[in-house]
Amino acid sequence: MDTTTLDSVRERLVARRDEIRSELDRMSTEMQWIGQDQEDEGSLGNHMGDDGSNVAEAERISTISDNLEDVLVQVNGALQRLDQGTYGTCQRCGRQIAPERLEAFPYVMYCIDCQAAIERENALRLGF
Ligand SMILES: [Zn+2]
Repeated sequence: MDTTTLDSVRERLVARRDEIRSELDRMSTEMQWIGQDQEDEGSLGNHMGDDGSNVAEAERISTISDNLEDVLVQVNGALQRLDQGTYGTCQRCGRQIAPERLEAFPYVMYCIDCQAAIERENALRLGF
Protein backbone atom coordinates (compact mmCIF):
# COMPACT_ATOMS: atom_id res chain seq x y z
CA MET A 1 0.00 0.00 0.00
CA ASP A 2 1.41 3.43 -0.86
CA THR A 3 2.03 6.21 1.63
CA THR A 4 -0.87 8.36 0.47
CA THR A 5 -3.32 5.52 0.99
CA LEU A 6 -1.84 4.76 4.40
CA ASP A 7 -2.11 8.43 5.39
CA SER A 8 -5.77 8.57 4.46
CA VAL A 9 -6.39 5.30 6.31
CA ARG A 10 -4.72 6.77 9.38
CA GLU A 11 -6.90 9.85 9.12
CA ARG A 12 -10.04 7.74 8.90
CA LEU A 13 -8.97 5.62 11.85
CA VAL A 14 -8.09 8.60 14.03
CA ALA A 15 -11.42 10.25 13.16
CA ARG A 16 -13.25 7.03 14.03
CA ARG A 17 -11.35 6.71 17.30
CA ASP A 18 -12.25 10.26 18.34
CA GLU A 19 -15.85 9.67 17.34
CA ILE A 20 -16.04 6.49 19.44
CA ARG A 21 -14.39 8.17 22.41
CA SER A 22 -16.86 11.06 22.46
CA GLU A 23 -19.72 8.62 21.97
CA LEU A 24 -18.50 6.58 24.96
CA ASP A 25 -18.20 9.75 27.03
CA ARG A 26 -21.72 10.72 26.13
CA MET A 27 -23.02 7.28 27.10
CA SER A 28 -21.25 7.20 30.42
CA THR A 29 -22.84 10.57 31.23
CA GLU A 30 -26.20 9.15 30.25
CA MET A 31 -25.60 6.13 32.48
CA GLN A 32 -24.86 8.45 35.40
CA TRP A 33 -28.13 10.24 34.81
CA ILE A 34 -30.00 6.96 34.82
CA GLY A 35 -28.20 5.91 38.00
CA GLN A 36 -29.02 9.19 39.72
CA ASP A 37 -32.58 8.96 38.63
CA GLN A 38 -32.86 5.58 40.30
CA GLU A 39 -31.21 6.79 43.48
CA ASP A 40 -33.63 9.70 43.70
CA GLU A 41 -36.53 7.32 43.47
CA GLY A 42 -37.14 6.89 47.19
CA SER A 43 -37.31 10.51 48.23
CA LEU A 44 -38.28 12.48 45.16
CA GLY A 45 -40.36 10.07 43.17
CA ASN A 46 -39.69 9.12 39.59
CA HIS A 47 -39.77 11.84 36.99
CA MET A 48 -38.14 9.95 34.14
CA GLY A 49 -40.55 7.06 33.60
CA ASP A 50 -40.80 3.74 35.39
CA ASP A 51 -38.00 1.59 36.69
CA GLY A 52 -38.34 -0.95 33.91
CA SER A 53 -37.61 1.53 31.18
CA ASN A 54 -34.60 2.85 33.06
CA VAL A 55 -33.18 -0.64 33.39
CA ALA A 56 -33.85 -1.38 29.73
CA GLU A 57 -32.26 1.90 28.75
CA ALA A 58 -29.21 1.20 30.91
CA GLU A 59 -28.88 -2.23 29.34
CA ARG A 60 -29.22 -0.82 25.85
CA ILE A 61 -26.52 1.77 26.53
CA SER A 62 -24.19 -0.76 28.09
CA THR A 63 -24.56 -3.10 25.09
CA ILE A 64 -23.75 -0.27 22.70
CA SER A 65 -20.80 0.83 24.86
CA ASP A 66 -19.43 -2.72 24.88
CA ASN A 67 -19.63 -2.87 21.10
CA LEU A 68 -18.02 0.53 20.77
CA GLU A 69 -15.22 -0.48 23.12
CA ASP A 70 -14.60 -3.54 20.95
CA VAL A 71 -14.35 -1.37 17.87
CA LEU A 72 -12.11 1.08 19.74
CA VAL A 73 -9.71 -1.75 20.59
CA GLN A 74 -9.67 -2.79 16.93
CA VAL A 75 -9.14 0.78 15.74
CA ASN A 76 -6.27 1.25 18.18
CA GLY A 77 -4.78 -2.04 17.02
CA ALA A 78 -4.99 -0.90 13.40
CA LEU A 79 -3.26 2.38 14.26
CA GLN A 80 -0.54 0.41 16.02
CA ARG A 81 -0.08 -1.79 12.95
CA LEU A 82 0.18 1.34 10.82
CA ASP A 83 3.02 2.52 13.06
CA GLN A 84 4.72 -0.85 12.88
CA GLY A 85 4.30 -1.06 9.13
CA THR A 86 2.27 -4.27 9.31
CA TYR A 87 -1.05 -2.65 8.43
CA GLY A 88 -3.09 -4.55 5.83
CA THR A 89 -1.44 -7.86 6.66
CA CYS A 90 -3.57 -10.63 8.10
CA GLN A 91 -2.63 -11.18 11.76
CA ARG A 92 -3.34 -14.87 11.46
CA CYS A 93 -1.92 -16.11 8.15
CA GLY A 94 0.29 -13.14 7.24
CA ARG A 95 -1.20 -12.69 3.80
CA GLN A 96 -2.28 -9.35 2.39
CA ILE A 97 -5.86 -8.39 3.27
CA ALA A 98 -7.92 -7.53 0.17
CA PRO A 99 -7.90 -3.73 -0.42
CA GLU A 100 -11.69 -3.58 -0.86
CA ARG A 101 -12.08 -5.30 2.51
CA LEU A 102 -9.80 -2.71 4.13
CA GLU A 103 -11.70 0.01 2.36
CA ALA A 104 -14.96 -1.21 3.89
CA PHE A 105 -13.51 -2.04 7.34
CA PRO A 106 -10.24 -0.14 7.80
CA TYR A 107 -9.58 -1.74 11.18
CA VAL A 108 -9.96 -5.43 10.31
CA MET A 109 -7.16 -7.67 11.57
CA TYR A 110 -7.74 -10.72 9.41
CA CYS A 111 -8.23 -11.63 5.80
CA ILE A 112 -11.67 -12.84 4.84
CA ASP A 113 -10.67 -16.53 5.00
CA CYS A 114 -9.22 -16.26 8.48
CA GLN A 115 -12.16 -14.17 9.67
CA ALA A 116 -14.51 -16.92 8.50
CA ALA A 117 -12.35 -19.59 10.12
CA ILE A 118 -12.23 -17.68 13.41
CA GLU A 119 -15.98 -17.18 13.40
CA ARG A 120 -16.47 -20.89 12.79
CA GLU A 121 -14.12 -21.72 15.68
CA ASN A 122 -15.95 -19.28 17.96
CA ALA A 123 -19.29 -20.75 16.97
CA LEU A 124 -18.01 -24.26 17.73
CA ARG A 125 -16.65 -23.13 21.09
CA LEU A 126 -19.97 -21.57 21.98
CA GLY A 127 -21.69 -24.78 21.00
CA PHE A 128 -23.69 -23.56 18.05
ZN1 LIG B 1 -5.53 -14.69 6.94
